Amino acid sequence: MDFKNVTIAGSGVLGYQIAFQTAFHNFNVTVYDINDEVLEKAKAKFDILSEAFKQDLGATDDQLQATKARLSYTSDLAEAVKDADLVIEAVPENPQIKIEFYQKLAKVAPEKTVFATNSSTLLPSQFAAYTGRPEKFVALHFANEIWKHNTGEVMKHPGTSDEVFEILLVFAKQIGMVPLAIHKEQPGYIVNSLLVPLLSAGMDLWIRDVADIETVDKTWMVATGAPLGPFGILDVVGITTAYNINKMVADKTKDPVKLKIADKLKAEFIDKGKLGVETGEGFYKYPNPSFKQKDFLK
Ligand code: NAD
Repeated sequence: MDFKNVTIAGSGVLGYQIAFQTAFHNFNVTVYDINDEVLEKAKAKFDILSEAFKQDLGATDDQLQATKARLSYTSDLAEAVKDADLVIEAVPENPQIKIEFYQKLAKVAPEKTVFATNSSTLLPSQFAAYTGRPEKFVALHFANEIWKHNTGEVMKHPGTSDEVFEILLVFAKQIGMVPLAIHKEQPGYIVNSLLVPLLSAGMDLWIRDVADIETVDKTWMVATGAPLGPFGILDVVGITTAYNINKMVADKTKDPVKLKIADKLKAEFIDKGKLGVETGEGFYKYPNPSFKQKDFLK
């Protein structure tokens, strides 16, 4: 099984990054989205992404031009997958949308086509039955800004064949990711299985007034040598995401600590436009947060 033609379904935050990264690494890439207007937006975003590839990876103009030449666009699903070796699905994180997508895809994709989902929070086994080819279905999970944060988490569901699992690990490497094999379904993959508890523990210490955020971060940074502590990381992830996760858990479990965290994030951060690094302020002020100052770790 040797992949040449890759179709990316969904050209939003992650999809357009996956498309560009894959084309940059010499695959023929078809970008599929619901209409031509959305696809035009994706095309425009490739120009901005090209600049990031130049700055962060030292990509040359020739390489970037060749990358763009390997990208094609269509809002016709049958056309998009007619010769696809692999479809990477990056449609919205909504089970119903994904199920409908896989039902349509199963009808038009050739038998050879492998399907990979980039879903962050939904498990591939939720969709395997709708793909019509559970053995050729696997999760391939990227992190935002994939050209820099290049984890390629490849995760099996119980029906994924070993051959497809292995070939996806090879593919992840071919497109510049660090291939990470996850042999069993795991909500949150590896990254979030580690990160979510850390961030949650940090917020727990903060909300119960055990220590202030700078002390929490300082402790983590000094003790482990990590470049950021939980609150520095939360500013990168974005306060809105932290709020959504806490609110969801609070609504479900009625946990008073989670509820207090959600309320505080809303009133003191979200309502004041402090959404993290992207707005210049979250737990810290950017571009010069105190944890980057020389004396912070003393
Ligand atoms: P997004 O909302 O930015 O983009 C979704 C895209 O899918 C949009 O362009 C939309 O027009 C398109 N779309 C909607 N319905 C469609 C359909 N039926 N068929 C094809 N395209 C359709 O979402 P996103 O943040 O890029 O997330 C996409 C997937 O990637 C999700 O499963 C998410 O969990 C995962 N993911 C996101 C991130 C992140 O940081 N945003 C990180 C890792 C993984």
